[in-house]
Amino acid sequence: MKYDVAIIGGGVIGALTARELARYALSVVVLEGAADVAAGASKANSGIVHAGFDAAEGSLKARYNVAGSRMMATVCEELGVGYENNGSLVLAFDEAQIGILETLLARGRANGVRDLRIIGREELFLREKHASGRAVAALYAPTGGIVCPFELTIAAMGNAMDNGVLLLTDFEVVRAENGKTVTLHAADGRAVSAGYVVNCAGAGAEKIARLFGDDSFTVGARKGEYILLDSAAKGFVKSTIFSVPTAAGKGVLVTPTADGNILIGPTSVEEPDFSTAIRRGAFGEIIEKARAICDGIPFGETITSFAGVRAYCDRHDFIVEESRKAENLFNTAGIESPGLTSAPAIGKAVAEKIAARFGAEKKKDFNPKRRAFSWFRKLGAAEKNAVIAEDPAYGKIVCRCESVTLGEIVNAIRQNPPARTLDGVKLRTRAGMGRCQSGFCQPATLETIAKEYGLSLGEVTKNGKNSAIVSGGAI
Ligand SMILES: Cc1cc2nc3c(=O)[nH]c(=O)nc-3n(C[C@H](O)[C@H](O)[C@H](O)COP(=O)(O)OP(=O)(O)OC[C@H]3O[C@@H](n4cnc5c(N)ncnc54)[C@H](O)[C@@H]3O)c2cc1C
Repeated sequence: MKYDVAIIGGGVIGALTARELARYALSVVVLEGAADVAAGASKANSGIVHAGFDAAEGSLKARYNVAGSRMMATVCEELGVGYENNGSLVLAFDEAQIGILETLLARGRANGVRDLRIIGREELFLREKHASGRAVAALYAPTGGIVCPFELTIAAMGNAMDNGVLLLTDFEVVRAENGKTVTLHAADGRAVSAGYVVNCAGAGAEKIARLFGDDSFTVGARKGEYILLDSAAKGFVKSTIFSVPTAAGKGVLVTPTADGNILIGPTSVEEPDFSTAIRRGAFGEIIEKARAICDGIPFGETITSFAGVRAYCDRHDFIVEESRKAENLFNTAGIESPGLTSAPAIGKAVAEKIAARFGAEKKKDFNPKRRAFSWFRKLGAAEKNAVIAEDPAYGKIVCRCESVTLGEIVNAIRQNPPARTLDGVKLRTRAGMGRCQSGFCQPATLETIAKEYGLSLGEVTKNGKNSAIVSGGAI
C-alpha cells in the first residue's frame, strides 16, 4: 500500500505530528527504527514544560515553546497523561545574576510568557524551603510545568493509532528512492511507499535528510546525565529550580517529576558518538552543581542514573520546514530543549502545512481522547475492589515498589502502541522503575510478555535486538 504521509521517527515530535495528522483524511504510517516509540531523547530528558523565557526573541524555539506550553495541559488531559503546573524558579546569587534574571524577564515577556516576575528572598523561601540559603532573588514563572515525556509520547502515538495511523517498529530507514512517490527501505529489506515524508528522526535527522540529497544542516549531540531520587524524597521541592543559564545551556536543575520522584541534572557534554553511557565522575559534577542551588538534598534516596542526548543543529534554532533541497520531504531537526514543551505546537504546525499541501479535510470521527491508563495504585479501596471484581488480574501486584498489577501489564501489552519488551512495559506501567529497579518484578513481567505473544522466555528482550535477558534466547 502507498501512504499519503510517512513519518520517520517515533519520538515525541513524530508521535504528536502523527496524532495531529490523524485529524485529517490522510493515510499515515510511522517508521521507527527501534523496537518501541520514545527510544531517543524523548525517553531521557528533564520532563520540564518550560515557560519560554530562555529562547531568543523571534526564534522558532521561542515561538513553539510558548505555544506548546499553552497547549500542554489540554493535550495531556485528552491523552490521560500526568501533567502538573508546578511553576519554576531561576535562582540568582549576586547582583550580576539579578541582572541576568532581568534579561530573562524581559525576554520572556517579549516571547509572550505570562505572569513572569522577579521575587525576593522572603517569597522564595516561602515557596521553596530547600532553595539554597545563599540565593538573593529568583525569577518566578508560574506557567512552568512538568510532564512525563515517555508517557506523553506513548499516549500520543496510541491516540494516533486509535485514529487510523499505522506504526511500524524495528523499521530503520536506510535508503530512500525519491521520485513522484518516495520508497523508504528498511535495514531488514522491508519497504514502504508514501507521497510525502516527514523527518522526525532526532539524532538521525541529518542522515535521513542526506538520503534525500539534502545537506542543508548538520546535527551534533550533547549528552545530559541525571540522578533520580526515589519517591520517598517526594515533596523535597515543589517547583523546578534552575541556576541562571550559561552558554552551555540551562544547567543542572532540581525538580519533582510528574511521577513523584526528584530528578537532578542534566550535565552538558559533547557526545559525537551519541552515546548515553554515564561518564565516570558525572555523579560528582551533578551533586556539586545541585548543592549550589538546593540545601540538604537527600542523595541517600538515589535509585538510578541515566542520560539522554540532545540533537542540536548548526543553525542553532529548531528546523521545522519543507526541505530546502528535496521534493517530498519535510524536516524537523535540531529539536533540542525545549523540544518536549514545543512538541504539541510543532506537531500541529507540521500537520496543518501537510494537510494544506494535500488539500485534506478534517475527519469528522477523529477522537482526541485516549482511554486513560488505569493506574491501580491511584484508586481508592472501593474502586480497587470494583476493578478486581471485573478482572482478577488487577488483584495481583507484580511490581511491589510501584504497586503495578498484572492487569496493568496485560493492558500495556494489548493497548496501542503495544508493549513488546521489558522496557516497553516499564515505560507504560512503571513496573521496574522503583527502588529495587526491577529486581523483584522482572521474572513475572518476562513471563507475561512471553505468554501474551506466544514466545519462549529466551525470545523476550529488554529493548529489542541483541538484548535478550534469558540466556540462549539471543535474536
Ligand atoms: C538531557 C536532555 C534534557 C532535556 N530536557 C528537556 C526539558 O526539560 N523540556 C523540554 O521541553 N525538552 C527537553 N529536552 C529536549 C527534548 O527531549 C527533545 O527536544 C525531544 O525529545 C526531541 O524529540 P524527537 O522526536 O525530535 O527526537 P527523539 O525522541 O530522539 O526521536 C527520534 C526517533 O527517531 C528514530 N530514528 C532515528 N533514525 C531513524 C531511522 N533512520 N529510521 C527510523 N527511525 C529513526 C529514533 O529511534 C527515535 O526514536 C531535553 C533533551 C535532553 C537530551
